[in-house]
Amino acid sequence: MKKVVMILLVFMGVIACKTNPFTGQKVLNFYPNSQIFPTAFAQYDQFLEENKVITGTEDARMITKTGQRIAAAAERWLTANGYPGYLQDYKWEYNLVNDETVNAWCMPGGKIVFYTGILPICQGETGVAVVMGHEVAHALADHGAQRMSAGTLQQLGAVAGNVAIQDEQKRNIFNQAYGIGSQVGVMLPFSRSHETEADRIGLQIMAIAGYNPDEAAELWKRMKANSGGAAPPEFLSTHPSNDTRIANLSQWAPLAKEEAAKFGVTSFE
Ligand SMILES: [Zn+2]
Repeated sequence: MKKVVMILLVFMGVIACKTNPFTGQKVLNFYPNSQIFPTAFAQYDQFLEENKVITGTEDARMITKTGQRIAAAAERWLTANGYPGYLQDYKWEYNLVNDETVNAWCMPGGKIVFYTGILPICQGETGVAVVMGHEVAHALADHGAQRMSAGTLQQLGAVAGNVAIQDEQKRNIFNQAYGIGSQVGVMLPFSRSHETEADRIGLQIMAIAGYNPDEAAELWKRMKANSGGAAPPEFLSTHPSNDTRIANLSQWAPLAKEEAAKFGVTSFE
């Protein structure tokens, strides 16, 4: 029986790899957008119903505007790099909720939430763009779907060859992968490699959107000063450490500007 499971897992691994457009690497992900997005959209709507969404304020408008610029930059990059239509199933939405938690996240399909608690650390639109770029990058790189795929393999292993994942199981796996259980919208920390990848992709996208990527390291210095050692929820993982992250971002900022120059963007705000 074990052998059967092994063969099955290897087979699924072979058919289930998808190329990450930003890194060119093949990653384990057998959940197409069509399977994940409807669940994500429903969870997002539920989160908005259960939390106080701020509309019509200058801050709320800033979140929307920054998000639109980041999304447009991502679209430009993907189209230019041979992935036109990559975002066709995305339904971008940017919401600010009244919550003093220092956090922000993006669910699959472009469903973004900023908490008011992160705004003092952002200190304005460029800082918002740093966080927005990072969160959008998680979604674009399918980090959540990869975590779901890994979770599914674990479950498959556990049930020894039960290939048919039922709808309810799929929902449970989604909830696990996104840390959604008793509390909707509490995202589990991503792995160290996913965090680093999101930092790098986010930096590129924000630069193409015309935001100064030098601000990213500055934002993380403020995040470090604010956290007093403990990072906010989405960034909970202690790896990469704040210092590594700041060093990486400083090192990558000039590269992000070079990438932006390919799109005719040479001045940054
Ligand atoms: Zn992250």
